[in-house]
Amino acid sequence: MSYNFDEERIIHEIEARNAKKVLLQFPEGLKYFSIEIVNKLRKKIPNVDFIISGEPSWGACDIAEDEAIQIGADLIVHFGHTPYTWYYPKFPTVFINAESTIKLTNEALEDLVKKISKYNGNKISLTATLQHIKMLQEVKSFLENMGYEVVIGKPSSKFMFDGQVLGCDYKAAEVPADIYVIISGGMFHALGLGLSTNKPTIKLDPYLQKSEDVTNEVNRILKIRYGKIMQAMDKRNWVIIQGIKVGQNRPLMVKYFYDELTKRGYNVYIVTNKVLTIDVLRNIDRSYIDVYLVTSCPRLPIDDLYNYEKPVLTPGEAKMIINNNFERYIFPW
Ligand code: SF4
Repeated sequence: MSYNFDEERIIHEIEARNAKKVLLQFPEGLKYFSIEIVNKLRKKIPNVDFIISGEPSWGACDIAEDEAIQIGADLIVHFGHTPYTWYYPKFPTVFINAESTIKLTNEALEDLVKKISKYNGNKISLTATLQHIKMLQEVKSFLENMGYEVVIGKPSSKFMFDGQVLGCDYKAAEVPADIYVIISGGMFHALGLGLSTNKPTIKLDPYLQKSEDVTNEVNRILKIRYGKIMQAMDKRNWVIIQGIKVGQNRPLMVKYFYDELTKRGYNVYIVTNKVLTIDVLRNIDRSYIDVYLVTSCPRLPIDDLYNYEKPVLTPGEAKMIINNNFERYIFPW
């Protein structure tokens, strides 16, 4: 397995809490390893029942507390995330980082320098997803040896590591820099970094052992997002989606938007939802509804619902409309 699932710590936590029934929760990309982990744990502690949550989970905003209560579990083991910036579970939960054990090759590091050197700047902001957090120091030293100044920013919560970002939390990249580099697989976190910084953005992908300049792709998405904002401006019939996954329920944010929009004489409806899809929107929709505003996961409008026939906005985009200020793209909140 190319991740450290820290079975020793899991066993220690289970024994220390005397848990007898444990719910294991994995993000989508790590579910593949779940059965094998149960096999390993069963061998070491055969008197404990292990149950795998098969429900979708994309972040620590979504801890399976309801499921655990329903099946009578004593403990949740949640893999792949640190506790969410804006929610700490009420149910006993152990967080296992599941850091990647991949090693970066010299070619991968040299490829990163090649991509960076296309830009004039010398100051680099360096971030990573949790799976690759241990690589930060190695990449920092390599870039410093090449003459760059490297900053690893502070995260937004005490549960996170320096330089760690989430799909909706780029606090660690809020540092002045010329170029923003992220160590991550896929495009999800790299695009979020570009949207939040509006600066040259380069991804170092440890799985592919190469780097990619995602700045053009970020600019393409920005054009689409500004198009949605323009479509939604001055529209008077809004639906606010209120998330009901534990960490995606943001009642204060819902109230803020409801009050601001109704103050302007707009017609506003609130709809609760757990898993938002285009079909959910289509089933609710009426011809006179103009705009949807998603307060649950700010990535849904950008990554999943961008081709819905009516504008679906993030909280940051709705704020731009309310403040009538479009100069700086606000992401995510
Ligand atoms: S980006 Fe969405 S799924 Fe990921 S942590 Fe944030 S709210 Fe949760």
